Amino acid sequence: MTLDEGYVKYQSLWTKAPAPHAAAAEELETWRQPLYEAGLIGEYEEHGIGYGNISVRCGEPGQFLISGTQTGRLARTDKSHYALVTSWNLRSNLVCCVGLVQASSEAMTHAAIYQLDQHLGAVVHVHSKDLWCHYMNNLPTTAPEVPYGTPEMADEFRRLYRDSDFRRTQLAIMGGHEEGIVSVGATLEQAAQRILQINSAFQWPPGSGDTETSGMS
Ligand SMILES: [Zn+2]
Repeated sequence: MTLDEGYVKYQSLWTKAPAPHAAAAEELETWRQPLYEAGLIGEYEEHGIGYGNISVRCGEPGQFLISGTQTGRLARTDKSHYALVTSWNLRSNLVCCVGLVQASSEAMTHAAIYQLDQHLGAVVHVHSKDLWCHYMNNLPTTAPEVPYGTPEMADEFRRLYRDSDFRRTQLAIMGGHEEGIVSVGATLEQAAQRILQINSAFQWPPGSGDTETSGMS
């Protein structure tokens, strides 16, 4: 496990105040719950480092509400555990957010994905060693030399959206971010269900993990 997980790599302008959009926070908690129960969002206990994060568009165009940094270990979340990303700049690696917690260390990756297509309404980032190993290069996969949370990762998602099947699969493997998987969708429900479905198909019944991914979109 790479130990840089969880550290904010972008420059952050954080306004510590309650994030608006409480209803969106409730929706995030609704879909975070089954992801947490499946272990797709959680904490690496040996390192005390949370993983997995979830966001949905809300507010002004380009803005989104995202789980806060180091909230992965929490069994339950409420509006105090989310931050609204109000603006960002990929090239200067800057993220501005407002919330009682700071936005997830992977907020820049979420921002880059929203920028690809205005019809993408939600981004779910989970960790699963099994799914990551199994779908590496079977699903659209970002380059192994590119770590998460960098402008280069943003470029990788742009490349996948343009040149790979990502637009159809709505699922991608982060080749340079161990165990990292991204699911997107027009709605939060779509993005969450997609990853929950491949996870349960992989877990049970035995052997179904070899199921082809075609038709999954
Ligand atoms: Zn991650």
